[in-house]
Amino acid sequence: MTDVITTPTVGGPTLPQERRLVTAIPGPRSLALHARRQAAVASGVSSTLPIQVVAAGGGVLVDVDGNSLIDLGSGIAVVNVGNADTEVAAAVAAQAAAFTHTCFMITPYEGYVAVAEHLNRLTPGDHEKRSALFNSGAEAVENAVKIARHATGRSAVVVLDHAYHGRTNLTMALTAKSMPYKAGFGPFAPEVYRVPMAYPYRWPGGPDACGPEAATQAIDHIRTEIGADNVAAILVEPIQGEGGFIVPGEGYLPALVDFCREHGILFVADEIQTGFGRTGHWFASEHEGIVPDLVTTAKGIAGGLPLAGVTGRAALMDAVHVGGLGGTYGGNPVACAAAVATIELIERDGLVERAATLGDVLRARLEALAADDPGIGDVRGRGLMQAIELVVPGSTSPDPARVRAVLAACHAAGVVTLGAGTYGNVIRFLPPLVIGEDLLHEGLTVVADALAATRP
Ligand SMILES: *Cc1c(COP(=O)(O)O)cnc(C)c1O
Repeated sequence: MTDVITTPTVGGPTLPQERRLVTAIPGPRSLALHARRQAAVASGVSSTLPIQVVAAGGGVLVDVDGNSLIDLGSGIAVVNVGNADTEVAAAVAAQAAAFTHTCFMITPYEGYVAVAEHLNRLTPGDHEKRSALFNSGAEAVENAVKIARHATGRSAVVVLDHAYHGRTNLTMALTAKSMPYKAGFGPFAPEVYRVPMAYPYRWPGGPDACGPEAATQAIDHIRTEIGADNVAAILVEPIQGEGGFIVPGEGYLPALVDFCREHGILFVADEIQTGFGRTGHWFASEHEGIVPDLVTTAKGIAGGLPLAGVTGRAALMDAVHVGGLGGTYGGNPVACAAAVATIELIERDGLVERAATLGDVLRARLEALAADDPGIGDVRGRGLMQAIELVVPGSTSPDPARVRAVLAACHAAGVVTLGAGTYGNVIRFLPPLVIGEDLLHEGLTVVADALAATRP
């Protein structure tokens, strides 16, 4: 066994904001740790890029070999306020020094209440709300389904093609893609029904017809094959995440909301990836003026600490009997302290607006790349949640091999980029909202070079 001593390094926003490569990627120390990892960690848990991180902050990740890489992934849309942000780290340290756990269900504390107040205030709609906190996105989605079933007395849950809602048993059933999320892990939870998603790029009638036509198909399917009266909830990502940053065709979500209201069905927005300023609004539902009955949150909520929430209409949330919701660690005080610091920072530093402004920069670069690359079939997304879909030129046939080649070239050049999509042919961009504009440009130039080198 090779031991690699990973000297703790101070991260956060004061780290030099630069791409600096001093070894091949991954370097020798990272590879030595990777060998240890392979002997100790289950191989079902994958890693996109096995550099071993010792510090991170702003828009960079620093590895054990001394390389500094540009972060265009934010740990999957988690460190929106930047990694190891100074104020988040200070709030975490102070809370950890005071107390680390009591279990909110036994003896409560203010941090949990403060996070619930923020969620009630910031999520769409000015109706009276309540929140409950959990540990992970999947757990929040599970609880949203529990609440919806309890509040409506109905069992069916409707989800969309290309959806991603997690990896627990119920959320695997809600998730669309088999490989790698579901294959071999069944049987899955019952009473989950899938309807067409408005995917503009791939809609047979074209992007303009997509929203209304997909809504008609989805509603028709619910009416005829599920029965509207059996449906507790329709669960949607207002912009699909793992599915490939698909922005639903215009009008699709409002039509589903209207249908829900008409039939006593709860409209549940899974804002786990889209939340906390990521898309240029606090929540992506706001882009089409949607007011969900329940909202699930996680990822960007707490600057990197595990925390998740369900927020919704008071009457629905309070329909559940006392003791029906909870968990040992849900709303852990250290995670809540991080969330309060994160939310205050997003507000104070105008990071929602920054996501919109930098999103325009990102969009312009991606559009320019697409203009002279026939293999880029679509550019889409909002704010700092945007993607390109790669296809065989002259067709809409997915080109996942080129995505793999582009990601590998970006990684080798010191830029952390992520793939996505049902067909594995999407490259998604999720930089921290605090990334410097110059660093974003440099990262995108590396992406442009990788695209040029793999051009079909
Ligand atoms: C990541 C994600 C989840 C699952 O969250 P975990 O914290 O990984 O359990 C659920 N829904 C969406 C939209 C996500 O992006």
